[in-house]
Amino acid sequence: MSFRATVLTLYPEMFPGALGQSLAGRALDAGTWDLQTVQIRDFAVDRHRTVDDTPAGGGAGMVMRADVLARAIDQASPRGDTRPRLLMSPRGKPLTQEKVRTLAAGPGATILCGRFEGVDQRVIEARGLEEVSIGDFILSGGEPAALVLLDAVVRLLPGVMGNEVSGEEESFENGLLEHPHYTRPQVFEGMTIPEVLTSGNHGKIAAWRRAEAERLTRERRPELLAAAQGLTK
Ligand code: SAH
Repeated sequence: MSFRATVLTLYPEMFPGALGQSLAGRALDAGTWDLQTVQIRDFAVDRHRTVDDTPAGGGAGMVMRADVLARAIDQASPRGDTRPRLLMSPRGKPLTQEKVRTLAAGPGATILCGRFEGVDQRVIEARGLEEVSIGDFILSGGEPAALVLLDAVVRLLPGVMGNEVSGEEESFENGLLEHPHYTRPQVFEGMTIPEVLTSGNHGKIAAWRRAEAERLTRERRPELLAAAQGLTK
C-alpha cells in the first residue's frame, strides 16, 4: 500500500464518489491506495450526537466542536501516525501541484472535512492541522475539496497513470501551462492542425510546443511565467 487516506466527515457516503471510477477507482480496487472514512458523529459526547454549536461571540451559523473533532482525530490519526493531518479550508494555503507531488511521495494523509462555518480554532492548533484550500471560493463542505485533493494525488502514485510521460509534460509540472492539443480529423469545420505537428520533425515540434506553452502562460497566467523564469531548470 503506497498511500493511505483517512477522511473524517459527516458525509461518508460521499466517498469514494468520483474516486471509485476510472484511474483512481481501478487503483483503489488494485490496492495501490487505500481510502477509509470516519463518521465524525460517532465521536459525539452527548445523547443527541451533537457535532456543532453556536459561535462564541454570536453571529450566524454553527461551528464544529473541538472536543468531538479531537476524539475523531485521535482515533483516525493516533500518535506515531506519520501522515500529515490536513483540514480542508478556504483559509488554507492554496493547493499546488508541488504540494500534490509531496503528498503523493508520502505515506498518505488524514483529511478533515469541515461543514457549517468551519471548525473551532483550538482543535486546529491542538492537533496540528494543516489548512489546505482548493481555491478562492467557498464550498458548502470540505468533502468535494478532499475529493479534488485525492484525485490529484492518486494519479501521481506509481502505476496509476498508464502513460507516465504525460504527467511530466502537463500544465504546472515545468511551471508553465500546457501547449494546445490536436488529433484527427485533419480538418475540423474548416480548421486544420498546425503544420509543424504533422511535419515529423521532433525538434521543431518540441520547440513549437514550448513556445505555445510560454505564449499561453504569458496571456493567461503571467505570474506563473515570472516564477518559471526564475527557476534554474
Ligand atoms: N465560514 C468559512 C467557510 C465555511 S465553508 C469561511 O468563510 O472561511 C464550510 C467548509 O467547507 C469549510 O470548513 C471547509 O472544510 C470547506 N471548504 C469551503 N471552501 C473551501 C475551499 N475553497 N477549499 C477547501 N475547503 C473548503
